Amino acid sequence: MKILQASLCVISLLVILPSVFSASSSSEDFDFFYFVQQWPGSYCDTQKKCCYPTTGKPAADFGIHGLWPNYKDGTYPSNCDETKPFDKSTISDLLTSMKKSWPTLACPSGSGEAFWEHEWEKHGTCSESVIDQHEYFQTALNLKQKTNLLGALTRAGINPDGKSYSLESIRDSIKESIGFTPWVECNRDGSGNSQLYQVYLCVDRSGSGLIECPVFPHGKCGAEIEFPSF
Ligand code: 5GP
Ligand code: 5GP
Repeated sequence: MKILQASLCVISLLVILPSVFSASSSSEDFDFFYFVQQWPGSYCDTQKKCCYPTTGKPAADFGIHGLWPNYKDGTYPSNCDETKPFDKSTISDLLTSMKKSWPTLACPSGSGEAFWEHEWEKHGTCSESVIDQHEYFQTALNLKQKTNLLGALTRAGINPDGKSYSLESIRDSIKESIGFTPWVECNRDGSGNSQLYQVYLCVDRSGSGLIECPVFPHGKCGAEIEFPSF
């Protein structure tokens, strides 16, 4: 009987202990994602300039910047797992789509791998409780497919033509077409004008669907912002 009790005790410890440890690592967990897309024209016309990828000039379309785990209080985890480096071989089936939808514009010119590696290591590793490396990149590509930002804007007569548009009309047209209120981030062109740089949409923890944002980032655009060409 004693032996049975002792072994039951050992078995229950084996069952309980891992859940205690995983509970403590959930301090690295998150509440939702920001899915962030960048307008290439606004990355390239700043004082810093840009470099086209080694694969050539990207399409005149929004490109993926990243899929960022976030907390509802506005803070976010980063660089959560050094033991899971970026591994290109896990996403070999996605590389063609990545080059198209997630192009790098930083200098010097690159294939995109350094950008994807940075995004995976800084942000992707913080979503490992839900999605693995392949799913992380696949999820971002799926979201890009589902959210045609340029289509939403141009249908509303908002074109990348260097003219100014009201921030409200930009927000409304995206909400109208995609169904959720975006957050718009601006930067400044070479002459200092405020322009449409990045669009943030919020995504549930599983990465499967858009949600209304629990919290918006900080920062401010002008009431009228430029939409530069690319
Ligand atoms: P910036 O300071 O230029 O807005 O952002 C620099 C970098 O910090 C971003 O590219 C991103 O990696 C990270 N970052 C900025 N704001 C947020 C945020 O609200 N959530 C998350 N997860 N990352 C952010
Ligand atoms: P963040 O930490 O801001 O998410 O990621 C930005 C980092 O990725 C910076 O180190 C930046 O140099 C690099 N990067 C490479 N290509 C791009 C690009 O096309 N857009 C942006 N925003 N950052 C890029």
